[in-house]
Amino acid sequence: MSGERSRTDRTTLLARNDLVFIDFDGTISVTDTGIAVIDALELDEAWEIEHQWRRGEIDSMECLTRQWGMVDLARGAVYRMIDSFELDEGFNELAEAAIQIGAGLVVVSDGLDFYVDRMLGRLGWETCPGEEVIKRPRRCIPRFANHGRVTDHGVEISFPHRSPDCDQCGNCKTAHLQRLRAHFSRVIYIGDGHSDLCAARFADLVFAKDALAEDFAQSGRPFVNFETLAEVNEVLLAPRTR
Ligand SMILES: [Mg+2]
Ligand SMILES: [Zn+2]
Repeated sequence: MSGERSRTDRTTLLARNDLVFIDFDGTISVTDTGIAVIDALELDEAWEIEHQWRRGEIDSMECLTRQWGMVDLARGAVYRMIDSFELDEGFNELAEAAIQIGAGLVVVSDGLDFYVDRMLGRLGWETCPGEEVIKRPRRCIPRFANHGRVTDHGVEISFPHRSPDCDQCGNCKTAHLQRLRAHFSRVIYIGDGHSDLCAARFADLVFAKDALAEDFAQSGRPFVNFETLAEVNEVLLAPRTR
């Protein structure tokens, strides 16, 4: 197998009983929301924390808690900032096609639910608990994320999806993938970053950009490179569903 796949290759087309695992930050949102917040508020120390996490020196829970702990903003300012971040509107075509075809689609984020929900809301979607993906809901987007509660002095974080088998992630994407795959015949992974490196290795078809693409290229694993979700849709969706 190679990273090159033909657009007309039937085996890549999204089918009923496929499970689409899609990352949020940098994949549905154009830039990583945490990084965008750090940059917008010029939180230079938060970059050091980010690098510690990427080097594996601290887990994502410590990373997120320390970074968001630096965000001392009133509620309205947090929401205004979140509302200024750009989204990849190709997500809508993908999500609508998954519903039409009867495939599962779940958003998996090691970021925070409050901004995932708010930003997907801007695209016109409600969200629901990630576990609902096995029921193929037609009116909401199932999502797993860490919990962020917006207060008058910033954002309080908790980790409802910690996995006892993983000491790296707040919301372990690998644990979700391994548990949910029994309900589907194939797992398709779409992601961009460090929090996707582990889980994507267990998927059957991988769309990757940035750090995830570099990692897969270096280790010789097959993947389809993409920059925008429109490019993913080109490969995954037959013309009749587009
Ligand atoms: Mg990401
Ligand atoms: Zn993990």
